[in-house]
Amino acid sequence: MAAIRQLLRIVPRKQPWSRCCSTAIQPSPGVTSTSSGGGVCFDLTEEQKEIQQLARKFAREEILPKAAELDATMEYPWELIRQGWELGLLNPHIPSEFGGMGLHTFEGCLITEEIAYACTGVQTAMEANNLGQMPLIIAGNKEQKKKYLGRMTEETLMCGYGVTEPGAGSDVAAIRTRAERKGDEYVINGSKMWITNGGVANWYFLLARTDPDPKCPASKAFTGFIVDGDSPGLTRGRKEINMGQRCSSTTGFTLEDVVVPKENVLAGEGSGFKIAMGAFDRTRPPVAAGAVGLSQRALDEATKYSLERKTFGTSIADHQAVSFILAEMAMETELGRLAWMRAAWEVDQGRRNTYYASIAKGFAGDAANRAATNAVQVFGGNGFNTEYPVEKLMRDAKIYQIYEGTAQIQRLIIAREHLSRAKMGLV
Ligand SMILES: Cc1cc2nc3c(=O)[nH]c(=O)nc-3n(C[C@H](O)[C@H](O)[C@H](O)COP(=O)(O)OP(=O)(O)OC[C@H]3O[C@@H](n4cnc5c(N)ncnc54)[C@H](O)[C@@H]3O)c2cc1C
Repeated sequence: MAAIRQLLRIVPRKQPWSRCCSTAIQPSPGVTSTSSGGGVCFDLTEEQKEIQQLARKFAREEILPKAAELDATMEYPWELIRQGWELGLLNPHIPSEFGGMGLHTFEGCLITEEIAYACTGVQTAMEANNLGQMPLIIAGNKEQKKKYLGRMTEETLMCGYGVTEPGAGSDVAAIRTRAERKGDEYVINGSKMWITNGGVANWYFLLARTDPDPKCPASKAFTGFIVDGDSPGLTRGRKEINMGQRCSSTTGFTLEDVVVPKENVLAGEGSGFKIAMGAFDRTRPPVAAGAVGLSQRALDEATKYSLERKTFGTSIADHQAVSFILAEMAMETELGRLAWMRAAWEVDQGRRNTYYASIAKGFAGDAANRAATNAVQVFGGNGFNTEYPVEKLMRDAKIYQIYEGTAQIQRLIIAREHLSRAKMGLV
């Protein structure tokens, strides 16, 4: 299978796919060509089509046949992740300066949607690298990027985003992990929960409280750190047994007097909350794209089955009630895709996309759940059985309404953004 290095002509990098690359990839986020005066255009560029095709081939030929077994065994998909890394489908956003591909959010989403079509457990494991890396990409200094991102282009390593705690998920400002400065180091104590790649991460982005004053605003009270996975005092918990996406690794970990050098602070003490939340503008569009991949799979499986299954002397697709279910699924899949494309395109233009990112994540997450439930309905009794692919989709879909901000939190953000614009007279 051809790797991205053979498809794209981009700046040299260390990952295996780098060797044929020669020129820099252009900012070509794809859904519009306003810069050329052409207005809205829904065509992907040739490069984007090639990236999409590469991801699709890998997803359907390598991941999809193994998805059911990975779901049953809950085995972390190391082999597939290594293959994805070889092809350049892992870590797409590491800047070329540090040996990566420097792809935009839009191209990353194209990859994510394809991988999710085959197995969202594998997609979440791969995507968690982007989530863990994003605070470093947006706020790290050159040395930090070289050290922690650079190594990920040299070998297949995973990382994690360590924010949630047993007592604080949606309410991030309630986290209690504490970092105290002692000379040139920080000593960290606390615990993290529900961390994707938690059991396999080479390093974590970690949010901890550095100002103990409860009156200190969140915008100043927290600091973002890079913490090595093998730090003395850091103990990883067992792999959680989840409802869906069961091959991905969700793990808690505790920190007991974990010493982190001050060089591992991101953008200075007190700026952690903004960095941790800011990363979501770039990581929620891919979560939405993952949900759309699952919706598309649900639609394709349901369509195929409805054309094969016969009741009352005709295929069930000929019953209008069934065909309307497919129509609903098609509408929401297309709209979810447009939503992630808009959210990704906005941030690739250098514009604040918080509103669009939450709309995409909120809508596509809900739509994936409706699509998966509908697919089970179209399959009838077979849909409820593990011999058929759609019950896994229904279990896998649920997390899209929970992680990276629940469905309710997305609505809080959308309402806040909408109303603040309304109050400024902008809507
Ligand atoms: C499989 C998995 C992977 C995850 N991966 C990561 C990861 O890599 N890194 C990480 O840091 N975290 C991760 N998380 C944590 C995830 O982001 C949180 O679970 C999520 O943000 C919700 O937090 P919570 O579980 O504490 O629920 P709570 O915050 O306790 O919420 C419970 C319910 O109350 C609702 N609710 C809470 N506050 C409000 C409000 N103000 N208004 C309306 N409704 C509200 C919520 O929507 C939800 O329905 C993961 C979780 C899971 C299950």
